[in-house]
Amino acid sequence: MEHTRSERLFRESQQYIPGGVNSPVRACRAVGCTPVFIDHAKGAYVYDVDGNRYIDYVGSWGPCILGHAQENVVRAVREACEGGLTYGAPTEKELTLAKLIRACMPGMELSRLVSSGTEAVMSAVRVARGYTGRDKIVKFRGCYHGHSDGLLVKAGSGALTQSVPDSGGVPADYTKHTLVAEYNDCASVERLFAECGGEIAAVIVEPVAANMGVVLPEEGFLPFLRDITRDHGALLIFDEVITGFRLGVGGAQQRFGVMPDLTTLGKIIGGGMPVGAYGGRREIMEQVAPLGEVYQAGTLSGNPLATTAGIVTLALLRDSGDRYERAERRTAELAAAVREALGDRVRVNQIGTLMSVFFTGTAVRDYGTATASDPSRYAAFFRYMLERGVYLAPSQYEAMFVSFAHGEEEIARTCEAVRAYGSLQGKR
Ligand SMILES: *Cc1c(COP(=O)(O)O)cnc(C)c1O
Repeated sequence: MEHTRSERLFRESQQYIPGGVNSPVRACRAVGCTPVFIDHAKGAYVYDVDGNRYIDYVGSWGPCILGHAQENVVRAVREACEGGLTYGAPTEKELTLAKLIRACMPGMELSRLVSSGTEAVMSAVRVARGYTGRDKIVKFRGCYHGHSDGLLVKAGSGALTQSVPDSGGVPADYTKHTLVAEYNDCASVERLFAECGGEIAAVIVEPVAANMGVVLPEEGFLPFLRDITRDHGALLIFDEVITGFRLGVGGAQQRFGVMPDLTTLGKIIGGGMPVGAYGGRREIMEQVAPLGEVYQAGTLSGNPLATTAGIVTLALLRDSGDRYERAERRTAELAAAVREALGDRVRVNQIGTLMSVFFTGTAVRDYGTATASDPSRYAAFFRYMLERGVYLAPSQYEAMFVSFAHGEEEIARTCEAVRAYGSLQGKR
């Protein structure tokens, strides 16, 4: 497989863009190679600038559940362009999207559109603080909630309630109200509430963690978070930027039967264009300006093109019949093939159309067990699959995303490549 054009573009991009990329993981450093530059994409495939075709399991990190360039979405956006690209005034489309969201996720009685997942989470946290009049929030190690200052934290080595920034340029003062607990560890949350329960505005969690690789919530973990927040007058925020409309149209909250106070969405709800949303119970969302004191605004919020892509995508998902189940069965098939081909070398976590292959011998249930996996083995697997025309996430800690466009043929070809890799490993 030739990558000469990609390599040239990457070299030149580094002269103009930090690291040559507009989001760090794209630089492929974790897998020890240079990125392929994408020319176009259709259905389950991406095509690079050297003319190579790949079965795509990145799906733009989540949005492309219908496959790339789904024709109804593309047609609607093209038509919408003729009506003007942005107005900065209300449109009927925003109402339509808000109604669709509430029909699928009844807990989002009122919702606001923003332009990214980062913005959605940042705003939801502000609303939680405004509503409760408290400053502290609890997040979980290994969960990602966008790149706003207060959420780029890691647990400090000292006291339980001491967090330190996980990025340069973030003042320690900005993270001192962010407490860090362990995913799937109820006791770690109990300890934080015991120490400062009256000051905690909200617990924010990815109901299925998908940013340390895919990590499923254990039985009882999400209901526990629901109970402890309610008992202490704190809010529960589900960050469903990945899981929303991926684990079914009702998201993780429907799948696990746990209703949060606030929900954040992104990725799929923009149908491939920049959209995020946050929403929840009416009385909480009534804190938001112009009704309440919590300020949040956006020049391009509710942008007509992005909103159009979102509406068409969500409507197709809502009316998709058994497409979720079929895609989920294919993903499970792929997961089973990986387990069989790579055996004890790996642990595969899978739910719905999300999965991860961890190169570790122990079950992955939190950040510690996720990071026990061997990044160099994943890197070798990634490079092999790429050469076989399968485009995986260029990092062990990102999910694989299967779309409705991944048919039997694509899954079979991927399984075949995995088996070939397995037998190659077996001989060593
Ligand atoms: C991607 C992601 C975000 C951030 O969304 P952006 O659109 O990249 O800003 C927030 N939360 C979760 C769970 C995500 O996966």
